[in-house]
Amino acid sequence: MSSMNCSSCGAPVEIKNRFSKVFVCGYCSTHLKVSESGLDIAGKYPKLAEFPSVFQVGSRGTILGKPFAALGRMRYKYQGGHYDEWFIELDGENAWFTEDEGTFTLYTDLYEAVDIPDITSIKAGQNIMVGDKKVMVKEKGHAVVEGGEGELYFYVEPGTEVVYLDAVSEGKKVSVEYTENEVEMFAGRPLLKRDIVVEG
Ligand SMILES: [Zn+2]
Repeated sequence: MSSMNCSSCGAPVEIKNRFSKVFVCGYCSTHLKVSESGLDIAGKYPKLAEFPSVFQVGSRGTILGKPFAALGRMRYKYQGGHYDEWFIELDGENAWFTEDEGTFTLYTDLYEAVDIPDITSIKAGQNIMVGDKKVMVKEKGHAVVEGGEGELYFYVEPGTEVVYLDAVSEGKKVSVEYTENEVEMFAGRPLLKRDIVVEG
């Protein structure tokens, strides 16, 4: 896996996490699907605009005292602005980190392809079952995938609409992301900026 090249521009590609499904070329911003046979072009999209961010692709440091590396991010646009969903390695495990207008959440538990009641009927304040978990919905919103950068565990094509739920379950902060094809639930905890230490 170590010596690959971008199928579009030929730039060297180094994929660090074996679970990464898509790599966004840092040179030509082509989105490349990672498969056993190599890298397949998924599309070419504009580079993400640079907004002030707590870290960048490749950043290392500690979160709550544990070592992390930032591998990549997806950016979503919603009515209130945008948020970034980072794919990170935290102490050797996959984790996700969202940065939303200066609010940080670390998600360490992932539930993929969970069952969810009809999303259109779900309202804020409601208790629902997601998979086998009882979840209290605090907020429901719509976002559009703007793009990605680096290595991505999840991949949704830019332009796709996502319905998200911010919720709580068993004392944890929960985020549910729903597209036409997939439902994922993350559970984790809010962080303060001082919990995150970026080196260099
Ligand atoms: Zn390229």
